[in-house]
Amino acid sequence: MKNMGLRTIYLISLTLVFLTAVLLFAVFDMESQRKASDQALLEEARTFAREMDATWQFMDNSQDKINYTTEGAYEFKGLHCAVVGKSIGAIFSAGSDYAIRYVNLSPRSYQGTPDEYEAAALNEFVSTGGTEKYGRAVYEGEERFRYVRALEVDESCLECHGSPVGEIDITGYEKEGWTLDSVGGAISIVLPTDAQDESMFGNVVRDVVFFLCLAVLIGGVVWTITTLFVFRPLAHMKEAFGKMQEGSLSVNVDERHTAKEIAHLMIEFNAMASELDILYSSLEEQVNDRTFDLQKANEALKQKRDDLQRLNAKLEQEAEFKSNLLSMVNHELRTPLTSIITFAQISKESCGEGKASDRASWEEIEKNSLILLRMINDMLDMARSDAGSITASCEPVDLGDIVASVRNTMVPLANKYAVDFSASVASDVPLVMGDYEKITRMLENLGSNAVKFTPDGGSVVLSVERDVETDAVLLRMSDTGIGIAPADQERIFEKFFQVDSTSTRKYNGSGLGLALVREYANLQGYSVRVESELGAGSTFTIEIPHEATVGDDDV
Ligand code: ADP
Repeated sequence: MKNMGLRTIYLISLTLVFLTAVLLFAVFDMESQRKASDQALLEEARTFAREMDATWQFMDNSQDKINYTTEGAYEFKGLHCAVVGKSIGAIFSAGSDYAIRYVNLSPRSYQGTPDEYEAAALNEFVSTGGTEKYGRAVYEGEERFRYVRALEVDESCLECHGSPVGEIDITGYEKEGWTLDSVGGAISIVLPTDAQDESMFGNVVRDVVFFLCLAVLIGGVVWTITTLFVFRPLAHMKEAFGKMQEGSLSVNVDERHTAKEIAHLMIEFNAMASELDILYSSLEEQVNDRTFDLQKANEALKQKRDDLQRLNAKLEQEAEFKSNLLSMVNHELRTPLTSIITFAQISKESCGEGKASDRASWEEIEKNSLILLRMINDMLDMARSDAGSITASCEPVDLGDIVASVRNTMVPLANKYAVDFSASVASDVPLVMGDYEKITRMLENLGSNAVKFTPDGGSVVLSVERDVETDAVLLRMSDTGIGIAPADQERIFEKFFQVDSTSTRKYNGSGLGLALVREYANLQGYSVRVESELGAGSTFTIEIPHEATVGDDDV
């Protein structure tokens, strides 16, 4: 049913309904016609029976005239009621499809012997007291209408059939001993049904044809009305939907020649189509507006992209400039500075003890040049770190060597600041995995800070030992200097941060040393921390974890 058209469904349903109705009507009509026909046959049979009764009665009433001579003497002429009735019945039945018989369960002659239907009727009358039995039954091989009615024994019957039993009556037969009101036999009437049946079938055919015509007429009218008022308008709506699908929203379905409900639907449809049309037009406008906005946004974006590209180009230029500057600093500053340091050291040595003031001057030149060189190195390393081009090697390193080298660098510097510098390495400190240069630089930065921020007469201690709990190696740079406030203890590791950043500060420096220490530590998988108290000194600790130490098995 899902894919069938409404017309097809409608047609099939109508046909099925009408066929069923015609069939039911035919069955019902046939049944009622048959009943009517049987009723007519019954009335006909009863009429025959009454006529026969009348004849019988007449004969009975006329016995006193029939059986006497003209002189008034009794003379039985054989014309008693039973003989006359049976004879008229036989004459009437001869040569026709009709039969009128008198039957009895104990007949005096074979003509009165009942057939099966009549015997059943007689037995029924005797046993139940009924007086009529009728219906369609077979008679002489054909279906006929049978009617059997009981004959009750009355006064006139007793003369021949009453008591005493066995006495010979006037007809020469022995009396049966019947009593009043008992069943003395039955009149049996057989009627042909052909004429009735023919007329019945004719009636049924006529009725069915009439009903069929009526059904076809009703179906035709219903079909025409539905086509005109439903199918055709629906087809128009379908056509309109098709147009809408193709993009033409200005459709209008004519609702004038349709049923009220469909007309409402069409009016709603037309309203919806026109609303859609308006919406679509405003949507188009909106789309145009949005497209325009989008174009503008695109242009702005393009502008921004161009700006960014220009900025990028500028940044690239600046990066190139920075790189050039760095290589220039590297080459143009470090090379002469190294020469200055070397010459200052040679000149200092060649001054001898006699020229103490010259020697002090050369020492000052050497010290400041060294500070300048460290600052330049820090700047270069930080720039490399920012560019991501800084790496650290990872090889076994003897911390004893590094500490000795750092001490050699720090002791002269400490001496100049009148600070005591000492260094020690515990005997159980193992080799560690790391970058020799970087660890050295870390300790030099921490050491130079410690010397720098420790007043004259103070001390700086570098100790390297093994943490018994974690098996890590701890490099500690402790001083008795000015200390760092708790609020600054984390910030000092930021780039360019200095506790005293005023232009009048008394300690020189770039603010990059500790940032580089942390950077180098992270590169090698180490950590750095500080513990300090203002005025009491500071301790910077580099922790080399156990994993970065070289065990006995690794050597
Ligand atoms: P700078 O070149 O200024 O020394 P650093 O990054 O090495 O730069 O140090 C940052 C700041 O941390 C220093 O300016 C100083 O204020 C503080 N600082 C570093 N080490 C010590 C220390 N041992 N004692 C006191 N203050 C220190």
